[in-house]
Amino acid sequence: MIKIKSREEIELMRESALIVSKTLGELAKEVKPGVTTLQLDKIAETCIRDHGAEPGFLGLYDFPNTLCMSPNAQVVHGIPNNTPLEEGDIISIDCGALKNGFYGDHAYTFQVGEVSDEVKKLLKVTKESLYVGIRQFKVGNRVGDVGYAIQQYTEGHGYGVVRELVGHGLGQKMHEDPEMPNYGRRGRGKKFIEGMVVAIEPMINMGTHRIKQLRDGWTILTADGKPSAHFEHDVALIDGKPELLSTFQYIYDALGIESDEEHEFRQQELVLI
Ligand code: MG
Ligand code: MG
Repeated sequence: MIKIKSREEIELMRESALIVSKTLGELAKEVKPGVTTLQLDKIAETCIRDHGAEPGFLGLYDFPNTLCMSPNAQVVHGIPNNTPLEEGDIISIDCGALKNGFYGDHAYTFQVGEVSDEVKKLLKVTKESLYVGIRQFKVGNRVGDVGYAIQQYTEGHGYGVVRELVGHGLGQKMHEDPEMPNYGRRGRGKKFIEGMVVAIEPMINMGTHRIKQLRDGWTILTADGKPSAHFEHDVALIDGKPELLSTFQYIYDALGIESDEEHEFRQQELVLI
């Protein structure tokens, strides 16, 4: 059942989402060769707790850490460890926070130093596909419209769309209805309704869409060992249109990137916390 949120609840969700956004911004300053994913995990946990929130993933389905840290061929759900990141790696960081009973859930794939042009393109296209999908999250459309748009866009670049893992409704639970696949058929699936909040999160592989899972029971990686990228925003449906609750602006401020990519999805001015 889809849980519709009131305007007040959406504002609480915006706060949770922005705590995650700010945490990713703090991590952006620290992602470099030599740092371990466990070190980054501790930084994230401190940042979340300093904002009066709880790490959203820690203990959820018994996940052991604050962050899902998935380098290179890992797609999602990687567990932080003591292996240092290396120049040329990419690292997908997925972060959750719980405050006032509502979750934020938001992800970004970072470059570690300089990466190859083909990996840069994977990151660019995957992030673009996130916005291509968000643009379809509007009253009158259905779940399949978002998935179709993301799939068309990314497969058009020859990439593989992960099937087994999907976006989702977000609220007082981390995973609510509806499931939001990154593939689908236009006009199919549940209808979007004013007041819905969803996490849209394309997981896109450079090669095959097929995946496998490590014996740790968590880590998902590409079947062919090629890299995978993951970008995620939290989005509310307000006045029939998508409104971003999360932002990559903290990351861009940390990395000195100029971007107006989020502008069209803001009905109110972004106020950074
Ligand atoms: Mg996530
Ligand atoms: Mg999610």
